[in-house]
Amino acid sequence: MRKLYLLAGLSLLATPLFAQRTLIHCGNLFDGVSNGLQPQMTVVVEGNKITAVQKGYTSPVGQDRVLDMKSKTVLPGLIDMHVHLESQTRRGGAIDGFTKNPSDIAYQAAQYAKTTLLAGFTTVRDLGGSGVNVSLRNAINAGLVDGPRVLTVGKSIATTGGHADPTNGYRKDLMGDPGPEDGVINGPEDARKAVRQRYKDGSDLIKITATGGVLSNAKDGSGAQFTEEEVKAVVDAAKDYGFAVAAHAHGAEGMKRAIRAGVQTIEHGTLMDDEAIELFKKYGTYYVPTIIAGKTAADSARHFGYYPPLVTPKALAIGPKIQATFAKAYKAGVKIAFGTDAGVYIHGFNAKEFEYMVEAGMPPVEAIKAALMTNATLLGMNTQIGSVETGKFADIIAVDENPLQNIKTLQAIRFVMKDGKVYKQ
Ligand SMILES: [Zn+2]
Repeated sequence: MRKLYLLAGLSLLATPLFAQRTLIHCGNLFDGVSNGLQPQMTVVVEGNKITAVQKGYTSPVGQDRVLDMKSKTVLPGLIDMHVHLESQTRRGGAIDGFTKNPSDIAYQAAQYAKTTLLAGFTTVRDLGGSGVNVSLRNAINAGLVDGPRVLTVGKSIATTGGHADPTNGYRKDLMGDPGPEDGVINGPEDARKAVRQRYKDGSDLIKITATGGVLSNAKDGSGAQFTEEEVKAVVDAAKDYGFAVAAHAHGAEGMKRAIRAGVQTIEHGTLMDDEAIELFKKYGTYYVPTIIAGKTAADSARHFGYYPPLVTPKALAIGPKIQATFAKAYKAGVKIAFGTDAGVYIHGFNAKEFEYMVEAGMPPVEAIKAALMTNATLLGMNTQIGSVETGKFADIIAVDENPLQNIKTLQAIRFVMKDGKVYKQ
């Protein structure tokens, strides 16, 4: 109320002094739209929005605050399409399902979220946890916890014994028979119920595990685990709620079923063959490679006892293959989105993925843009995030060098603003 009276008094003045602007003076700006850097630019931020992008260094007036980034390259906040904020890899971590309460998971997730934000990722898609990720998203949105904008699947949907069946590898009497409520389905009817349950739980999108996976305590890491009819039922039910569907897939058969059934993205895509590549192109499906996760899992597996015995051979066989698959898919014209599977490696190293993408033949500008407008569009947020343009959320980062010449500079983020608030400077 007091503030209102003040504003009423000031409104008699010609220039309203209360509208404080932040002027970011950018040595170079990569706006996420054009392909080059623009030297000596000013980004004007008011509240949580970018209200102007101007040539030269705009002089402050009144109470304007200036952020001097004249020695930096400024970019839009990065977007990661595949993270797991609830967990982080560690030796013997398979025991965590028996020892950690949801509250333990929540505290660690809050820490991983903050680490991710400070690494320059201002928006992420959480592709699966126990459901604490839904509460985490809400806590971040409420300003209780520092973290990126989160869109989350809540719990992934699997089939019995499949990757993301939460009781895989348990002792028989603990195993039980989880159903659609826990994200385990068998048949189209279950598939629909599982999607509706995710809606009820507060998920933003759906994830299925179309094939076996590396880190689940089960033997098969790549075989198909959904019928095409089941994927179709998931996709159709998801449409009713405006949910996109992401599909984890290593093996080619499960990947093909998922693409034909209409999923939006294929995660990992490791054993993609020529027929799968043609299907990607025919259906316009996006590929989220997660090269860093494959490399990290393979490295970890070389340390005895890091993973359970069933997991080690899968990590060694599948992990190292993703980078070559990415190179082939990119060359063939498959559409690429940026995602890393953070949590499978230590949170905060997300930008290492850019280095691997460039190493595999993608020009730096394309790799960076994959993590900007491509991802923003897939999330249905292309008018809000993904570029430094007037009207968008003020999600802005800065690095020391030109990332188009040295992609590794993205691994040392110097400045992070999300929603107009500075988190790192
Ligand atoms: Zn994942």
